[in-house]
Amino acid sequence: AKAAGRNTVSFFDPAMQARVNARAALEVDLRRALGNGEFVLHYQPLMCVNGTMAGAEALVRWSHPQRGMVPPADFIPVAEESNLILPLGRWVMREACQRLAAWAGDARTAGLEMAVNVSASQFHRPDFVEHVLETLAQTGARADRLRLELTESLLLKDVGGTVEKMQRLRAAGVSFALDDFGTGYSSLSYLHRLPLDQLKIDRSFIWGAAKEDSGAAIVRIIVSLGKALNMSVLAEGVETQAQLDFVIAEGCQYYQGYLFSKPLPEPELLALIANL
Ligand code: C2E
Ligand code: CA
Ligand code: CA
Ligand code: CA
Repeated sequence: AKAAGRNTVSFFDPAMQARVNARAALEVDLRRALGNGEFVLHYQPLMCVNGTMAGAEALVRWSHPQRGMVPPADFIPVAEESNLILPLGRWVMREACQRLAAWAGDARTAGLEMAVNVSASQFHRPDFVEHVLETLAQTGARADRLRLELTESLLLKDVGGTVEKMQRLRAAGVSFALDDFGTGYSSLSYLHRLPLDQLKIDRSFIWGAAKEDSGAAIVRIIVSLGKALNMSVLAEGVETQAQLDFVIAEGCQYYQGYLFSKPLPEPELLALIANL
């Protein structure tokens, strides 16, 4: 009885109870939103340093009837804890592939790649590879225009199984980027085993680079790592011309960031491309 008393004490902490209730309410709301089709994708241009557009990253938003446009940081973590990330991730994949297939019909967009974020629980599902291949087949999107963005912690969970999955998708033409590189538990001992096409330098290093030598040193190391491993390097979160000049000087081939464009609804992305 004493032990039970101790264990239940925290539930009488009103602040904690409020957090538990809020989280449960958010989960219920997310489930409703999925059924109601309230998610939308915005697209942020992925730029070559020479100024041409290489593709776009699909970024999910929740178009909430009361709260307006909710950013992914406010619901992806709860979606991941509650397994709602699986239906949400599937919706994102289908929507992105549908747009990608539509882009093939216009000369101005036919060459663009579509980058899609994949969460760990989604990737580690046994049917992940089949689901992606099925979605490509059903939407008619070209596999060699699809790039999946994975995180370091995801890749480290089961390196052998991960490599096998990546290779099956790669055989179909799908490519892979390592997202937020430098912020996770990078280990050089596994990096060379992974069939990655691109390293994306986390924006914290790009922002630090202008002011601190340590940020600049990290950018330099990632660029030389990319060269040694035959992977392209993209700088994330480029907001100023000075940052762009710096990442170009360091040898990054690609960048994305508010300097060129924020993530945009598809019609705005297409308008931007039409005016390039
Ligand atoms: P991420 O994959 O690192 O995506 C880049 C984030 O940086 C995006 O935030 C983008 O809007 C923001 N960003 C881009 N350029 C700049 C810049 O110059 N300055 C600043 N301050 N920010 C910039 P967003 O859209 O809020 O997404 C946040 C995170 O949510 C993403 O980080 C990704 O981890 C996750 N996410 C977004 N969409 C999905 C999705 O469909 N599935 C999964 N699993 N995660 C997603
Ligand atoms: Ca990403
Ligand atoms: Ca990122
Ligand atoms: Ca990030």
